[in-house]
Amino acid sequence: MQAQRLLMMAVAATLAGAAPAVAQTIYPIDRAEILEGSHFDFKVEFPDAPASADVNVTVNGKPAAEIFGRQTTFMQNEEGQKHSAMWLRGASLPAGRYVVEATQGSNKSTVAWEVFSTPARRAKNVILFVGDGFSIAHRTAARIMSKGLKEGRYGGELAIDDMPNMALISTSGSDSVVTDSANAAHAYTTGHKSCVNALGVYCAKNALTLDHPKVETISEVIRRRNKMAIGVVTNAEIEDATPASMVAHTRRRSDYNDIVKMFLDVKPDVIMGGGSPNFLPKATNGSKRTDDLDAIAKFKEAGYSVATSKTEMNAAVSGGAKKLLGLYNTGNIDGAFDLRLAKKGTISKFPDQPDVVEQTKAALEMLKGNEDGFFLMVESARIDKYSHSLDWERAVFDTIMLDNAVKAAKDFAGERNDTLIIVVADHAHPVSLIGSYNDDRPGQLLRDKLGVYQDSVVPNYGPRDADGYPTDVNTSHRLAVVFGTYPDTCDTGRPYMDGERVPAVAGAEKNTYVANEKDCTAPMAVRKQGNLPFESNSGVHAADDVVLTAMGPGAEKFRGHKPNTYVFRVMAEALALGGK
Ligand SMILES: [Zn+2]
Repeated sequence: MQAQRLLMMAVAATLAGAAPAVAQTIYPIDRAEILEGSHFDFKVEFPDAPASADVNVTVNGKPAAEIFGRQTTFMQNEEGQKHSAMWLRGASLPAGRYVVEATQGSNKSTVAWEVFSTPARRAKNVILFVGDGFSIAHRTAARIMSKGLKEGRYGGELAIDDMPNMALISTSGSDSVVTDSANAAHAYTTGHKSCVNALGVYCAKNALTLDHPKVETISEVIRRRNKMAIGVVTNAEIEDATPASMVAHTRRRSDYNDIVKMFLDVKPDVIMGGGSPNFLPKATNGSKRTDDLDAIAKFKEAGYSVATSKTEMNAAVSGGAKKLLGLYNTGNIDGAFDLRLAKKGTISKFPDQPDVVEQTKAALEMLKGNEDGFFLMVESARIDKYSHSLDWERAVFDTIMLDNAVKAAKDFAGERNDTLIIVVADHAHPVSLIGSYNDDRPGQLLRDKLGVYQDSVVPNYGPRDADGYPTDVNTSHRLAVVFGTYPDTCDTGRPYMDGERVPAVAGAEKNTYVANEKDCTAPMAVRKQGNLPFESNSGVHAADDVVLTAMGPGAEKFRGHKPNTYVFRVMAEALALGGK
């Protein structure tokens, strides 16, 4: 037996030795679409650490240096690793098709790039709304909750639906089918496909997270090319993936200290969200910095007003501020469900936080006077976060909040016809609306209360307030919304009025999670055996396509199915960002 195993291992080793060497890797990767004149780091990695004399790189059949107009550098055993690297940081190219070939002995790798130019400028302003994790069921539930449903027809249209153009967007990254918010937002702000956790970089072999091959973000392109104002608004921490994608270059989205520095490098005119501790020098109480950088002082020196509450934000706006750093929470800003209804989360600690709608209106007020227009990104971030915690009512309230923010932007854009508005998710969650719970149905179990098909009665939520949010959701007839992925958990079938749902808690075994027993004792709670790996404590993203809606100059480009990188391209074209 032992002899046979040794023989098997020897055979396996021989096969491994006979396998072709790992291919050279070229960045940007194959089929990259690159904005003409935009800056990117060109890198080729050669396995087995060859010398420069043993490799050859051509672009359209000519030496790379000739095409780029600059010398490349070569590092044998880069960083002491078992590969060599050819680099050209900050390259750029005129429009055209480029074929890059990297040869090493008998191995050759080839990639093709399309460098695209942009036609004359058509939009003065672009407003990009990102509903993080915003999926079809969130949309439908938000429409039922905020517009009402009677005899199969809605009482009105959502602002996000009432737009002339629509497309399906696919969100997969270069490394995986299901992506995360860093890589997904990066596709919108750079036009490149990258990998999970990456912002503004390709994922090469570099050891340090900031050393990977960079691609320019739309904010940097704007800063280099024109005098547009830039705004970044979120209700997540401002260092979180989606807002960070406007400025950041790191392989690791959790590099919050560095991301604050990158905000300082680019200096978007309006920066609003949560996440204040990474702006404070380490000596300050509550700081999460590891250095002495006082980022708030730096922004003040650069002419920014600083706001830590809604009152201060509004005062800055009415005082005529054009540059604002608004940090309204140490963590994420509370979502609409807690701000309006449950008053849980961190409301008692931060009683004066603006919501996404108020932030959007304030940002528009500050940006709209800029003669060369503005680029504003607004994120409703907690649709995603509440979907991770399987707390769909909170996710849907934040979808209604997104809709109200879009309505504010549409009111601004009005008949101007100079503002491109795009509403899109960065990725989906596996969430679906399957019927309604009706407490009047007979039976003792939650599943007895579930009405499907003809028994899926319209919910009897409390009357809607002026902003379209129901004033009561803990009613006898409620929507039944389910998630396709979950850890071991207990579903109460009711909204979580005492604070965001905690689906699972740490188990006895390290890095494993078990159902949150607090929920399991609720009346009718149903225990669900998880379908995720044991180390998951929340739901995960889905690869399902997401819906994009758009209006304004350039919006007509959105139809059918497009990759997420296409969103960058349409924005770059509308603003004529191509060229030297
Ligand atoms: Zn997420």
